[in-house]
Amino acid sequence: MAHRFTVSELEHRKLIHNGSMYTRHSTSSTLGNITWRCDQRDIKCPGKATTSSKDVLLCTPEHNHQPDWGRCGATEAVAQMTATASTSRATSAFVQGAIARVSIEVSVKLPKTSFLKRKV
Ligand SMILES: [Zn+2]
Repeated sequence: MAHRFTVSELEHRKLIHNGSMYTRHSTSSTLGNITWRCDQRDIKCPGKATTSSKDVLLCTPEHNHQPDWGRCGATEAVAQMTATASTSRATSAFVQGAIARVSIEVSVKLPKTSFLKRKV
C-alpha cells in the first residue's frame, strides 16, 4: 500500500499509510531518515514508521487499532480546503461544495462546518 503526505490542522506534515496517520517524531542526523509516530497516542498505539530522506517508506508498522481511512480522508479534505480557500474569496460556498464532494465515510469525521469556515 502506497503512503502519502498531508498537513494537519496545525499545518504540520503528516504521513498517511494504511489508514493510519503519523506525526513526525525525529530525524536521523546521519541518514536523514525520519521517524514518524502513529497519532493515536490517546490509546498508546506503538505504531512507528520510518521514511528515508527521499520520502520512501522503509518499514511497515503494527498498530493496536484498526485503520481509519475516514479520519485520514477528513484530514486531507481539510488540508485541501485550507489550501484552496486561501486563494478563494467565496469561502463559505467553497466549504459547502467541498463537503458535498467527500464521501460519507469522510464527512462524518470532518469538523463542524462552522469550524471549517472559521479556519479557512
Ligand atoms: Zn496506530
